[in-house]
Amino acid sequence: MRDEIARTGVVLTDIRKSFGNLEVIHGINLKITEGSFVVFVGPSGCGKSTLLRMIAGLEEVTDGEIEIKGRDVTDLDPSERGIAMVFQSYALYPHMSVRDNLGFGLKMARTPKVEIEARVRAASAILKIDPLLDRRPGQLSGGQRQRVAIGRAIVRKPEVFLFDEPLSNLDAELRVSMRIEIARLHRELRNTMIYVTHDQTEAMTLADKIVVLRDGRIEQTGSPREVYEKPANIFVAGFIGSPR
Ligand code: ADP
Ligand code: MG
Repeated sequence: MRDEIARTGVVLTDIRKSFGNLEVIHGINLKITEGSFVVFVGPSGCGKSTLLRMIAGLEEVTDGEIEIKGRDVTDLDPSERGIAMVFQSYALYPHMSVRDNLGFGLKMARTPKVEIEARVRAASAILKIDPLLDRRPGQLSGGQRQRVAIGRAIVRKPEVFLFDEPLSNLDAELRVSMRIEIARLHRELRNTMIYVTHDQTEAMTLADKIVVLRDGRIEQTGSPREVYEKPANIFVAGFIGSPR
């Protein structure tokens, strides 16, 4: 029993979200196994980002409860949740070097300098960005910027990584290679990863488990194969591209 609790990464219980009087997330229940790679997929506006932002603590839940590794984090600040989020827009500081971008969060958390240096070095090696440490974001390509954004999450050693469409600003070729990098990262780090995309191919290739969303509700959860071969309904079949 204890073991089972320890292996639960993230639990969402009856999560709802309203903006004004408009409810956009209608009671989501989901258990995410620790160390798994879960992809939220669905059309634009279905609530993927809102759900992710609530897990991150960047958006308050209107109702419901969020647990991370057995701890109720519903009312905790983002910095207290053991998560790190990677955004589509990278959100790097333009006036800082790559090195300082990577270390900034740790510096704010008063991590000792030696420790920051060690973690920045380790993350740079994993992402192969060591030669870029003295550059500024403006001197990097899109793919390199995205690597730095991911590096900034890695240095924080989060329990859970949250990705919101991290590759959608990249061209098609780079998207494929970054996708492979992210899959490799998950194999190396073995953290729980929650990844949001509207791209079916990304979802199918990265996920241990796919969560198909539509209009603020879960239509189906399952392995890529289950969702593809046994779509729960016409919407899922159409969205995933299953043969019918
Ligand atoms: P997705 O990421 O799947 O494209 P979002 O989570 O961004 O979808 O949005 C879900 C719904 O919530 C949409 O209808 C969107 O217009 C609405 N929404 C998101 N953020 C806000 C906000 N800050 N204020 C009002 N409505 C919002
Ligand atoms: Mg979104």
